[in-house]
Formats: sequence, structure tokens, C-alpha cells
Amino acid sequence: MTLAAPHPDHPISLESPATIAVIGAGPIGLEAALYGRFLGYEVTVFDRGPVAANVQQWQHLPLLTPFHDLHSRLGRYAITTQNPQHEFPGPEDCISGQQWRQSYLLPLAETDLLAASLRSQHRVVAVSRCHYPKHHPATGPRRWQDGFLVTWEDEQGMPHSDTFDFVLDASGTFQHPQGWGPGGGPALGQDALVAQAQRDARLAAALHTVAPDFTREPTAWHDARVLLIGDSLIAAHTALEWRRQVKAGQLCWLLPQNIQSPQTFPVVPADPLPARHRLLTAANELIDQQRLESLAQAIAERAESTAAQRLQVLGNANLTSITWDPERGLFHAQLLQWTEVDWEAAPDDFEEPDDEAVACDFDHVIIAVGHRVDEALTQELQVPRCPHSECMLGLLPELQQADAGPAGGDRFRLKLADPQSQLTPEGRLFVLGAKSFGRQPNYFHRVGLQQVRDAFRWIVGRHNLDLEESIAIR
Ligand SMILES: Cc1cc2nc3c(=O)[nH]c(=O)nc-3n(C[C@H](O)[C@H](O)[C@H](O)COP(=O)(O)OP(=O)(O)OC[C@H]3O[C@@H](n4cnc5c(N)ncnc54)[C@H](O)[C@@H]3O)c2cc1C
Repeated sequence: MTLAAPHPDHPISLESPATIAVIGAGPIGLEAALYGRFLGYEVTVFDRGPVAANVQQWQHLPLLTPFHDLHSRLGRYAITTQNPQHEFPGPEDCISGQQWRQSYLLPLAETDLLAASLRSQHRVVAVSRCHYPKHHPATGPRRWQDGFLVTWEDEQGMPHSDTFDFVLDASGTFQHPQGWGPGGGPALGQDALVAQAQRDARLAAALHTVAPDFTREPTAWHDARVLLIGDSLIAAHTALEWRRQVKAGQLCWLLPQNIQSPQTFPVVPADPLPARHRLLTAANELIDQQRLESLAQAIAERAESTAAQRLQVLGNANLTSITWDPERGLFHAQLLQWTEVDWEAAPDDFEEPDDEAVACDFDHVIIAVGHRVDEALTQELQVPRCPHSECMLGLLPELQQADAGPAGGDRFRLKLADPQSQLTPEGRLFVLGAKSFGRQPNYFHRVGLQQVRDAFRWIVGRHNLDLEESIAIR
């Protein structure tokens, strides 16, 4: 699909004080809002929760990149201008999500430049053009000149709307986990369980949709039978932490894909991030050591005492259904393992093996299946995405080029070369940060900072603008 790209005859730029709505006060929403404020735009930043609400959810986890790659010079400048005594982590320090939030994201949100622009606990529910629905034939400059109507609910749930010249969607994906069941669909009972957890504190304490901190309530994990599902880095981290922290009990880790290869988690060649290298290598070793061939084997082992630590890893395995037994405080789960068939090599009379299914009870369930894009927010806008990864279509050529390069798809080293890649057919709409990468888990903040720079090149209409480079920063 060719994007109707703005060009010098039909620019999308508007001088300040044009209005910008930023959806999401996460790391990249804050950086984008700051950039806009430095340039004199009228910026409103909406967040459905507190500042950096998603980072807050996983804040006990360690980050893979050093602090150097987790902040902009502009952000540092804004914070130190206001509070010269502010102490930042060292540039090479490896910090946790909590340290990122406390030492940088929250102080940034509190600067005079941003504080007045922030609308926390304000959930954006829809963005549309003021006059043209998605299917309207108006394209190009005619469409771009139309404003955006942003509708949101305030902290009391009251609806409001206002018009904006530009919209920067930085709402992330963390609120939208993929399905827990086979093929990324829902496991039977999943939605009912999530609803039930709102009313049942015991269930809520046993169902973990974010990686748990095993050090917080060690007794809850002692001798417990735990089900972990997913192939995300969070799942890998969780399995490794469980092995490190929990001395007695069973963890059954289901991964949806084949795990026979020695690199279930592909190791990045000459990885510039030691923490990532350690995580990926340790996860692959753990899988190699603890891999079981079948669910039957896992069940046989379960019959034995749980006095010792036992970790079971199963590939091509899914959760198919799940319920909670409030009397016994247990999950009843149906698990399934399937055999992958190479249909091109299989003989004509090949009979597909049956799936293996078993029922098991668990004390804790940890969901680490990864996240996906919620397209509902902008469903009245033309926002083309790759049907495979759900990354922004404009970004796809840059990502494919990186995949084919010597760094083997390491998005940490991605250098966005083409500002065009940020454009959508909506002209003045930009999708930034984790959401622009769709389901791909390898988004990094330093790439988001490049997106912010490129988006503002279009917004201002100066294609060499780079505030990070040009502003005098102490
Ligand atoms: C466990 C983990 C570790 C990571 N480690 C690193 C790392 O080491 N280095 C690195 O560079 N990156 C890392 N990342 C990736 C990435 O930097 C983070 O996910 C980062 O939080 C993404 O920032 P974001 O602003 O794009 O999205 P988010 O942090 O997801 O922020 C989105 C914001 O939008 C808000 N929002 C959502 N919907 C709405 C709505 N409808 N209305 C209003 N507000 C809304 C949310 O409340 C949230 O505050 C990691 C990610 C995870 C999950």
C-alpha cells in the first residue's frame, strides 16, 4: 500500500500554537509532549491511569538497556532546569522499571513544561476526523486539513470531547494481552476468570497477568504448583526467577511453539546489551535442561512429592480452558500438546497424530503471552498496519531492512533513516512508541526517541530539525 505522503506543496505542518493531543503519558508520550512544549505547541497529554501507568505494573522487573538509552537529553535538561540537585542514575546503570519511573519519568511529568499539560485518569475512548469517517473518499490534503475529534472520559467517567490539529498515539499495548489459548485465541473461561478476579481476592492473588515478584510473598509460592504460559521475554524472566527464588514446588511452563531448537529465544549476534544476552542464554539453557517430551511425562512427575523444586518445560503446548474452584482455592486447567507436521514432506497417507490433552490443578497461574494492538481507539481513522506483526505499515520497510542486516533484526540498534516511515494516510496522526511496533516485543525507547524527532520534523515542517542536537544542553 502506498501512503499518500505529504510533500512541500501539501505540507501537514502547522506553526505553534497549534494543538496536539498525546494519548498516553508513558515514556514516549512524555518525551513527545516535552518536544512539542519546547517548540511552543499547545499540548494535552491524556493517560487512563497515573503517569507511566504501564511501567508501574511491571516496575519490579529489571530493564535490559542502561539508563543512557532510557532518557532524552531534552528530558534531562527540563528536569535539571527545575531542580539542579536532581540525581539521575549513571549513564551505564542497569535499573528497574521502578527506578526509571522514580528517577526520570515522574520528575519529567512534574516539570513546569509538562505538569499543566497532563490529564491523568483521563481515558481516551475514540479519535476520529472532525468531518470525514474512515471510509470517506477524501484523501491527501483534503483529509489532512480536517481536525481530529478526541473523546475521553474523566476520572468520574464523564465524557468530553475536543478538537486537535495533531494526534500522537502513544498508548502502548500493555493493556491488551494476547489470548491465553491455542493460536493466540482465548482459553475457554478466560474472560469469566478475569471478571471473577475483580470480586474474589483469593483468586486475584493467584492469577498473575504481570510477572510476579516472588520475593514479595515467599510463603505463597512455597510448595505451590504454578502454571506459566507464554513465550515472551517476561515468561523467560519469570521461569528463571522462579528457579532462583522458590526452593520447593512445581512450575509447569507451556510455550506455544516448538522448543527443540537450542535457541528458542534467538540470541542476538554480538549483543551490545549484556543483560539481554544473559537473559536469552539462560532461558535457552533452562529450556534445554528442563524440556519434557510430553504432557503425560509431566503428569507422571506431578504425582511425586513437591518437596523439591521441579521445573517442567513443554513446547507446542497450550492452555485450552480454565476455571477457578473457590472452595479449594485452585485452578482447574485443561492443557493440550500438539505435534507439528511438515505437510510438504509428509507422505500422502500420513495420518495426523491426535493432540494430547490432560486436566491439571494449579495454585497459581502466570500469564506471559505478550501483547497486541487495540485498534478500537482509532478505528475511524486510516491506520495501516502489517497484518502479521501489527507494526505500523510505514515502519515495516525499516524493520525488514534491520532484520536482513548484520545485527540480525536487533531493533535496539535500529536507526530510522526515513522520516517518511512515521507517516500515515491521516497526515497529522502519528503512532509512536511500543504501539507502533505492534506485537513485536523488541521495541526500545531509543527507537521511540527517533520517532518523536521524525514526527516533529513533519509537524514543524523542517526536515532537519533535531532539538536533541541543536538545543544547548547542560
Ligand atoms: C518488562 C519490560 C521490560 C522492558 N525493558 C526495556 C528496556 O530495557 N529498554 C527499552 O528501551 N525498552 C524496554 N521495554 C520496552 C518499552 O520501552 C516499554 O514497554 C515502554 O513502557 C513503552 O513505552 P510507551 O510509552 O510506548 O508505552 P507504555 O509504557 O505502554 O505507555 C502507554 C501509556 O498509555 C496509557 N494509555 C493506554 N491506553 C490509553 C487510553 N485509551 N487513553 C489514555 N491513556 C492510555 C497507559 O496508561 C500508559 O501510561 C520493556 C518493556 C517491558 C514490558
